[in-house]
Amino acid sequence: MTSQRARDRLAVKLKEEGIRDQRVIDVIRNTPRHHFIDQALHSRAYENTALPIGHGQTISQPWVVARMTEALLEFGTPQKVLEIGTGSGYQAVVLAQVAPQVFTVERIEELLRQARRRFRQLGLTNIRSRHDDGKLGWADEAPFDAIILTAAGDAIPHAILDQLSPTGVLVAPVGSPSSQTLIRMRGDGQGDFIQEELAAVSFVPLLGGIG
Ligand code: SAH
Repeated sequence: MTSQRARDRLAVKLKEEGIRDQRVIDVIRNTPRHHFIDQALHSRAYENTALPIGHGQTISQPWVVARMTEALLEFGTPQKVLEIGTGSGYQAVVLAQVAPQVFTVERIEELLRQARRRFRQLGLTNIRSRHDDGKLGWADEAPFDAIILTAAGDAIPHAILDQLSPTGVLVAPVGSPSSQTLIRMRGDGQGDFIQEELAAVSFVPLLGGIG
Protein backbone atom coordinates (compact mmCIF):
# COMPACT_ATOMS: atom_id res chain seq x y z
CA MET A 1 0.00 0.00 0.00
CA THR A 2 2.96 2.33 0.56
CA SER A 3 4.99 0.74 -2.22
CA GLN A 4 6.57 2.35 -5.25
CA ARG A 5 3.73 0.78 -7.29
CA ALA A 6 1.14 2.78 -5.33
CA ARG A 7 3.15 5.98 -5.92
CA ASP A 8 3.49 5.22 -9.62
CA ARG A 9 -0.28 4.76 -9.87
CA LEU A 10 -0.80 8.14 -8.22
CA ALA A 11 1.60 9.76 -10.72
CA VAL A 12 -0.41 8.26 -13.62
CA LYS A 13 -3.63 9.56 -12.09
CA LEU A 14 -2.24 13.09 -11.71
CA LYS A 15 -1.29 13.07 -15.39
CA GLU A 16 -4.73 11.81 -16.38
CA GLU A 17 -6.25 14.63 -14.34
CA GLY A 18 -4.35 17.31 -16.21
CA ILE A 19 -1.04 17.86 -14.36
CA ARG A 20 1.50 18.60 -17.09
CA ASP A 21 4.75 19.59 -15.31
CA GLN A 22 6.87 16.42 -15.31
CA ARG A 23 9.13 17.75 -12.52
CA VAL A 24 6.12 18.01 -10.23
CA ILE A 25 4.88 14.54 -11.14
CA ASP A 26 8.35 13.07 -10.51
CA VAL A 27 8.66 14.78 -7.13
CA ILE A 28 5.27 13.48 -6.01
CA ARG A 29 6.16 10.00 -7.25
CA ASN A 30 9.34 10.12 -5.15
CA THR A 31 7.94 11.68 -1.97
CA PRO A 32 6.81 9.21 0.73
CA ARG A 33 3.39 10.73 1.54
CA HIS A 34 2.76 8.00 4.14
CA HIS A 35 5.46 9.62 6.33
CA PHE A 36 3.19 12.64 6.71
CA ILE A 37 0.12 10.88 8.12
CA ASP A 38 -0.81 8.65 11.01
CA GLN A 39 0.02 4.96 10.67
CA ALA A 40 -3.68 4.05 10.75
CA LEU A 41 -4.12 5.87 7.44
CA HIS A 42 -1.02 4.52 5.67
CA SER A 43 -3.09 2.31 3.36
CA ARG A 44 -4.73 5.45 1.97
CA ALA A 45 -1.56 7.55 1.61
CA TYR A 46 -1.42 7.35 -2.19
CA GLU A 47 -5.12 7.90 -2.83
CA ASN A 48 -5.87 11.20 -4.48
CA THR A 49 -7.69 12.55 -1.39
CA ALA A 50 -7.12 14.92 1.51
CA LEU A 51 -6.61 13.08 4.83
CA PRO A 52 -6.84 14.17 8.49
CA ILE A 53 -3.58 15.08 10.30
CA GLY A 54 -5.09 15.94 13.72
CA HIS A 55 -6.04 19.29 15.30
CA GLY A 56 -8.93 19.48 12.79
CA GLN A 57 -6.48 19.96 9.89
CA THR A 58 -5.81 17.99 6.71
CA ILE A 59 -2.95 17.10 4.38
CA SER A 60 -4.07 18.40 0.97
CA GLN A 61 -5.19 16.18 -1.89
CA PRO A 62 -2.16 15.24 -4.07
CA TRP A 63 -3.80 16.74 -7.18
CA VAL A 64 -4.16 20.07 -5.37
CA VAL A 65 -0.52 19.97 -4.19
CA ALA A 66 0.56 19.19 -7.77
CA ARG A 67 -1.62 21.87 -9.35
CA MET A 68 -0.49 24.57 -6.90
CA THR A 69 3.17 23.66 -7.31
CA GLU A 70 2.86 23.58 -11.10
CA ALA A 71 1.12 26.98 -11.07
CA LEU A 72 3.98 28.46 -9.02
CA LEU A 73 6.64 27.11 -11.40
CA GLU A 74 5.04 28.08 -14.70
CA PHE A 75 7.02 31.30 -15.22
CA GLY A 76 10.38 29.96 -14.04
CA THR A 77 11.87 28.46 -10.90
CA PRO A 78 11.37 30.71 -7.86
CA GLN A 79 14.47 31.08 -5.66
CA LYS A 80 12.63 31.85 -2.42
CA VAL A 81 9.21 30.39 -1.67
CA LEU A 82 6.97 31.20 1.30
CA GLU A 83 4.27 28.75 2.40
CA ILE A 84 1.53 29.71 4.86
CA GLY A 85 0.12 26.61 6.61
CA THR A 86 2.86 23.98 7.08
CA GLY A 87 0.40 21.37 8.37
CA SER A 88 1.98 17.95 7.86
CA GLY A 89 4.93 19.46 5.95
CA TYR A 90 4.13 17.56 2.74
CA GLN A 91 3.63 20.59 0.48
CA ALA A 92 6.82 22.18 1.89
CA VAL A 93 8.77 18.99 1.11
CA VAL A 94 7.43 18.97 -2.45
CA LEU A 95 8.43 22.63 -2.85
CA ALA A 96 11.88 22.02 -1.37
CA GLN A 97 12.59 19.56 -4.20
CA VAL A 98 11.84 22.11 -6.93
CA ALA A 99 13.05 25.40 -5.37
CA PRO A 100 16.31 26.29 -3.57
CA GLN A 101 14.81 27.90 -0.45
CA VAL A 102 11.49 27.26 1.26
CA PHE A 103 10.11 29.19 4.25
CA THR A 104 6.98 27.84 5.92
CA VAL A 105 4.79 29.20 8.73
CA GLU A 106 2.34 27.22 10.91
CA ARG A 107 0.14 28.47 13.77
CA ILE A 108 -0.27 25.07 15.55
CA GLU A 109 2.96 24.27 17.38
CA GLU A 110 2.45 20.51 17.62
CA LEU A 111 1.91 20.17 13.85
CA LEU A 112 5.03 22.24 13.22
CA ARG A 113 7.07 20.06 15.60
CA GLN A 114 6.06 16.92 13.70
CA ALA A 115 6.68 18.56 10.31
CA ARG A 116 10.20 19.60 11.40
CA ARG A 117 10.96 16.04 12.42
CA ARG A 118 9.91 14.87 8.92
CA PHE A 119 12.13 17.50 7.24
CA ARG A 120 15.07 16.21 9.26
CA GLN A 121 14.30 12.55 8.57
CA LEU A 122 14.13 13.25 4.84
CA GLY A 123 17.45 15.11 5.03
CA LEU A 124 16.01 18.35 3.63
CA THR A 125 18.10 21.29 4.80
CA ASN A 126 16.58 24.00 2.59
CA ILE A 127 13.34 24.43 4.56
CA ARG A 128 13.09 27.02 7.34
CA SER A 129 9.98 26.99 9.46
CA ARG A 130 8.40 29.25 12.01
CA HIS A 131 5.61 29.08 14.60
CA ASP A 132 3.57 32.22 13.98
CA ASP A 133 0.41 33.70 12.55
CA GLY A 134 1.01 33.26 8.84
CA LYS A 135 -1.32 36.15 8.03
CA LEU A 136 1.71 38.28 8.85
CA GLY A 137 3.90 36.41 6.35
CA TRP A 138 7.64 36.33 7.20
CA ALA A 139 8.71 39.96 6.94
CA ASP A 140 12.41 39.47 7.78
CA GLU A 141 12.89 37.17 4.79
CA ALA A 142 10.81 39.13 2.24
CA PRO A 143 10.59 39.55 -0.69
CA PHE A 144 9.59 36.11 -1.95
CA ASP A 145 9.48 35.06 -5.61
CA ALA A 146 6.59 32.75 -4.86
CA ILE A 147 4.01 32.52 -2.06
CA ILE A 148 1.56 29.66 -1.46
CA LEU A 149 -1.29 29.67 1.04
CA THR A 150 -2.65 26.26 2.01
CA ALA A 151 -5.59 27.56 4.06
CA ALA A 152 -8.46 29.65 2.72
CA GLY A 153 -9.47 33.17 3.74
CA ASP A 154 -11.95 35.53 2.11
CA ALA A 155 -9.05 37.63 0.81
CA ILE A 156 -5.24 37.52 0.66
CA PRO A 157 -3.90 39.35 3.75
CA HIS A 158 -2.18 42.64 2.80
CA ALA A 159 0.98 41.82 4.77
CA ILE A 160 1.46 38.75 2.58
CA LEU A 161 0.93 40.57 -0.71
CA ASP A 162 3.44 43.20 0.43
CA GLN A 163 6.06 40.43 0.76
CA LEU A 164 5.70 39.22 -2.84
CA SER A 165 8.47 40.41 -5.17
CA PRO A 166 7.29 42.81 -7.94
CA THR A 167 7.19 39.97 -10.51
CA GLY A 168 6.39 37.21 -8.01
CA VAL A 169 3.64 34.58 -8.18
CA LEU A 170 1.12 33.80 -5.44
CA VAL A 171 -1.24 30.82 -5.39
CA ALA A 172 -4.01 30.55 -2.81
CA PRO A 173 -7.51 29.29 -2.14
CA VAL A 174 -9.90 32.20 -1.58
CA GLY A 175 -13.54 32.19 -0.52
CA SER A 176 -15.98 30.98 2.14
CA PRO A 177 -15.85 27.46 3.64
CA SER A 178 -18.60 26.35 1.22
CA SER A 179 -17.21 27.93 -1.97
CA GLN A 180 -13.52 28.42 -2.65
CA THR A 181 -11.53 29.13 -5.77
CA LEU A 182 -7.84 28.54 -6.29
CA ILE A 183 -6.42 31.80 -7.58
CA ARG A 184 -3.05 32.84 -8.95
CA MET A 185 -1.78 36.41 -8.74
CA ARG A 186 1.26 37.53 -10.67
CA GLY A 187 3.03 40.85 -10.13
CA ASP A 188 3.37 42.82 -13.36
CA GLY A 189 6.52 44.59 -12.11
CA GLN A 190 4.65 47.93 -11.87
CA GLY A 191 2.89 47.27 -8.58
CA ASP A 192 -0.25 45.67 -10.07
CA PHE A 193 -1.33 42.04 -10.18
CA ILE A 194 -2.70 39.84 -12.94
CA GLN A 195 -5.25 37.51 -11.33
CA GLU A 196 -6.50 34.18 -12.69
CA GLU A 197 -8.91 31.55 -11.36
CA LEU A 198 -7.43 28.05 -11.60
CA ALA A 199 -9.91 25.60 -10.03
CA ALA A 200 -12.66 25.03 -7.48
CA VAL A 201 -11.09 23.71 -4.26
CA SER A 202 -11.84 22.93 -0.61
CA PHE A 203 -9.35 23.95 2.11
CA VAL A 204 -9.43 24.37 5.88
CA PRO A 205 -9.83 28.03 6.98
CA LEU A 206 -7.00 30.52 7.37
CA LEU A 207 -7.28 31.48 11.05
CA GLY A 208 -5.77 34.37 12.97
CA GLY A 209 -3.30 34.21 15.89
CA ILE A 210 -1.29 31.19 16.99
CA GLY A 211 -2.79 27.90 18.20
N1 SAH B 1 0.34 22.44 3.46
C1 SAH B 1 -0.23 21.51 4.40
C2 SAH B 1 -1.74 21.65 4.45
C3 SAH B 1 -2.18 21.79 5.87
S1 SAH B 1 -3.82 22.33 6.14
C4 SAH B 1 0.22 20.08 4.12
O1 SAH B 1 0.87 19.85 3.10
O2 SAH B 1 -0.05 19.20 4.94
C5 SAH B 1 -3.56 24.06 6.43
C6 SAH B 1 -2.71 24.43 7.61
O3 SAH B 1 -2.78 25.85 7.71
C7 SAH B 1 -3.16 23.89 8.96
O4 SAH B 1 -2.10 23.18 9.54
C8 SAH B 1 -3.50 25.14 9.77
O5 SAH B 1 -3.16 25.06 11.13
C9 SAH B 1 -2.65 26.19 9.07
N2 SAH B 1 -3.08 27.58 9.25
C10 SAH B 1 -4.35 28.09 9.23
N3 SAH B 1 -4.31 29.42 9.46
C11 SAH B 1 -3.00 29.75 9.63
C12 SAH B 1 -2.31 30.97 9.92
N4 SAH B 1 -2.95 32.14 10.08
N5 SAH B 1 -0.97 30.93 10.02
C13 SAH B 1 -0.27 29.76 9.88
N6 SAH B 1 -0.86 28.59 9.62
C14 SAH B 1 -2.21 28.58 9.50
